[in-house]
Amino acid sequence: MESSKTKGLKITVNKQGSPYYLKVSYPLRFGKFTEIETEDYIFCFDLNNRIKFIQGKKETIGEQFKLNCAADWIYYCVAGYKGVYSFLGEYYLPCFGYAKNPLFDIYSYNTKLFKNIFNAFLKLVQRLEYIIKSDPLNEINQILKAIITVNHSEAIKKRVEEFYKITSGVVTVLPPDCRHVDYEVIPLNITYGCLYNCGFCSVKKGIKFKTRSITDILYDIKRFKTFYSADIANYNSLFLGEHDALNAESKIIIDAAKTAYNKLGFQYSYMKNPMLFLFGSVDSLINAKKELFEALNSLPFYTYINIGMESADNTTFRLLKKPLVSKKIKEAFDNMLLINQKYMNIEITANFVMGDMLSDEHYQSIITLSKSAGKSFYGKGAFYISPLEKSGAPSSYVQKKFLWLKNSCAMPTYIYIIQRL
Ligand code: SF4
Repeated sequence: MESSKTKGLKITVNKQGSPYYLKVSYPLRFGKFTEIETEDYIFCFDLNNRIKFIQGKKETIGEQFKLNCAADWIYYCVAGYKGVYSFLGEYYLPCFGYAKNPLFDIYSYNTKLFKNIFNAFLKLVQRLEYIIKSDPLNEINQILKAIITVNHSEAIKKRVEEFYKITSGVVTVLPPDCRHVDYEVIPLNITYGCLYNCGFCSVKKGIKFKTRSITDILYDIKRFKTFYSADIANYNSLFLGEHDALNAESKIIIDAAKTAYNKLGFQYSYMKNPMLFLFGSVDSLINAKKELFEALNSLPFYTYINIGMESADNTTFRLLKKPLVSKKIKEAFDNMLLINQKYMNIEITANFVMGDMLSDEHYQSIITLSKSAGKSFYGKGAFYISPLEKSGAPSSYVQKKFLWLKNSCAMPTYIYIIQRL
């Protein structure tokens, strides 16, 4: 770690943050990064010198903004400390510029804090340009120069295009379990599309399910290595996309996970406890073979599989235009409990929807399902409740209904705020 003070800036290169994604109620940095502290702000840059976090020192204590690798600014809001942890199991409420936060009606780009922080970054760049002029060959000034270059709007645009070339467009949704690694996952598609193409879904691509060839998957791993470059050392978690990777052949799932782990050097990451995330459908969970879970359990990852159940009520399935019935949901839920009990390194969680157009029977079916776990709940697994985008229910409805559901369910229950990449 090298630190220097110049013209009112404190610059620290290769600063070591926490090697664990701890859940804490203050801004904690993870992995290795460069930090520039001014009188009013703290700016953090990744190992490619790209801006990652901006935190105000005076304005809103404890809040910050993050720029993810798809160049979306995410506002880590404490929402007045009004019980964010009860809703999310996290201390921070992620607010995006592309969708309103359903819990507190916040768009990140509309906040005064974002505008101030963005202007502060522009001012920082001007200050860095001035410092470099005085001694362009100085080692730290070389880093400052790189910071200016890679954070130019054109460079960011190019980087996003590169990212979307690998992912074949926007990663429309990440599993809710990715919250355990602050959504810092490498999104490797091993499948495209999904089995059901449900009428209600706002994240589907509307294409038939298909597994990708292992050659294409391995090629993407190589491309990701180049894309993340030096900052790959801050990553150790993988999302196997797209919407139903569990439905791929077992060999593809295991080969993709193992190869990504080795080729992306997760064993050397600054971050500890590597995690693997995938979505599964009710049918893919019911049909998955014991051998797949045995193999997943022996990988160097802790694996989260998130299953889209949505309801356990047949009338609701017809309304959602999802081709499922309650009997199948019960079968999948029982499998989820068994797998969570049997495999130490695998945790299955389930998603359900909420909205003011859904009936009492829908909510009761979720509660009854959760209670059917009885003594089979082994402290693993959770229910995630996703407010339906089309419902447009006011945040007061979402908060009240969710807290009632959380209190009534016999499973750990959280709100699922859909996050893209
Ligand atoms: S809810 Fe899941 S299965 Fe249904 S359309 Fe969306 S992604 Fe596909």
